[in-house]
Amino acid sequence: MTVAGQAAPSDFIRDIIDEDIRTGKYGGRVHTRFPPEPNGYLHIGHAKSICLNFGIAAQYGGLCNLRFDDTNPTKEEREYVESILDAVRWLGFDWGDRLYYASDYFQQMYEYAVQLIKAGLAYVDDLNADEMREYRGTLTQPGRESPFRGRSVEENLDLFARMAAGEFPDGARVLRARIDMASPNLNLRDPVLYRILHAEHHRSGNRWCIYPMYDWAHGLEDSIERITHSICTLEFEDHRPLYDWFLEKLGVYRPQQIEFARLNLTYTVMSKRKLLQLVEGRHVSGWDDPRLPTIAGLRRRGYTPASIREFCDRIGVAKTESTIDVSLLEHCIREDLNRTAPRVMAVLNPLRVVIDNYPEDRIEEVEAVNNPEDPAAGKRKVPFSRVLYIERDDFREAPPAKFFRLAPGREVRLRYAYLITCVGVTRDPATGEITELHCTYDPATRGGDAPDGRKVKGTIHWVSAPNAMRAEVRLYDRLFTVENPGDVEEGCESVLNPKALEVVMAYLEPSLASAVPGSRYQFERLGYFCVDTRDYSAVKPVFNRTVALRDSWAKIEKQL
Ligand code: ATP
Ligand code: MG
Repeated sequence: MTVAGQAAPSDFIRDIIDEDIRTGKYGGRVHTRFPPEPNGYLHIGHAKSICLNFGIAAQYGGLCNLRFDDTNPTKEEREYVESILDAVRWLGFDWGDRLYYASDYFQQMYEYAVQLIKAGLAYVDDLNADEMREYRGTLTQPGRESPFRGRSVEENLDLFARMAAGEFPDGARVLRARIDMASPNLNLRDPVLYRILHAEHHRSGNRWCIYPMYDWAHGLEDSIERITHSICTLEFEDHRPLYDWFLEKLGVYRPQQIEFARLNLTYTVMSKRKLLQLVEGRHVSGWDDPRLPTIAGLRRRGYTPASIREFCDRIGVAKTESTIDVSLLEHCIREDLNRTAPRVMAVLNPLRVVIDNYPEDRIEEVEAVNNPEDPAAGKRKVPFSRVLYIERDDFREAPPAKFFRLAPGREVRLRYAYLITCVGVTRDPATGEITELHCTYDPATRGGDAPDGRKVKGTIHWVSAPNAMRAEVRLYDRLFTVENPGDVEEGCESVLNPKALEVVMAYLEPSLASAVPGSRYQFERLGYFCVDTRDYSAVKPVFNRTVALRDSWAKIEKQL
């Protein structure tokens, strides 16, 4: 297993754990859990929680459970369970034999509820949802007690059993804790423990028609699994007194809940509900669309598990909400791929070049370095011939100052090959658009250096036309046009970036014919690309742009 948290610097959570170990609070044990609800695919925010929980367990020689918090049958699906298992595994974490489901504890939770009723601490309420809301009061006004609050233990036991037996329709009754309708903490105003829901559960089938609420269920799950530190996001801070109340009143083992600030990213939405809307509204091609911040999307986009773990380490954990610049995530994948991805040449926006003084039917091979960052990556042979493609952007008929690439009469270096000079252009007679360049090459400059030492500033990439391989290349950009799409009142759909996906037909050097789905490359001077895992076929390979080369984070970091 990958030990992501090993080198992590300390933070307030680790400080709490250190203190608990020192005082022997849990006998020195550290046992965390990652508890997703299987109601969507995991996103990069979940990765933060996964790295934190599994990372802490690894760092302290403890354990981390993977637990599905599957208490809501109407929104949960088997597909989500599979995708979550896949995502956690792919990120490099191993739950061993500790895969749990909250639904496996339904019977135990039911018995705990009976225990609370017997202690006079829970009651069956017949108020409907609207009435309950009205009785609840507000932040400034205390709530009122339900007229059903005074039911006897016997009556409550009877009604609760009949709720569970399916005697009543959905919404007819609930089981509530009897705490304090005047509590300044609204979560303590007799929260609901169970609701009636005649719905089939993806695991327990039709065994149950009452389902536990999150606050009731979550602490019990943690307690049953003897979790020591139950790490959750900040919005649960006000729920902690309730978490503690349930476990204390039941007299069972009590983990420590600790809250941290959730991850927010610029130009990204990070809620499963919103992601589901994008998927269902067909604004993206599915949960693994490379434009989404889902683990499945990032993976398909070309992100590596190591880059995501590195990102999570770098952002750390804190107690106050903040929004991380998405360029930091992009910086992490660039750093990783810069070390590991082989360089190849590809032309995305081709302009034909004919080398007039190069023999018609000759094809020679030049030697290219696979990765200057990694000498062990070796070299490869790239075919060179009379007709080439270069990037249309690398030629200007009237070059501005500081444009060192190709222009009429200019000499430029073809990477790994020869110096060439532009001697003419061919135009489309109808449109006047340049369709072809004519160049001459200097045979004495093989490898790209002039023996007379003359200076040539520009170096451009190229692909030999008769040897080139055609491929579809998908150029991804940020999915939204504004920094905080989650805050847009009209909904994030209204600020989708229409240019978030651009598809081009590209020419690639022939070595890419052997590229397998999922493999990653740097297209020299263009960015990092990977072979799509879903739409790939040998007849029509598809490459996804993971990220362009320009690193805006590195610039930001320099200014810091
Ligand atoms: P969402 O708000 O996206 O629907 P959620 O919190 O409802 O997410 P869960 O399946 O309940 O999703 O989350 C599992 C775990 O991941 C929880 O412990 C939750 O606190 C954590 N988590 C979810 N989103 C983030 C985030 N953006 N940053 C850090 N942790 C997160
Ligand atoms: Mg949730």
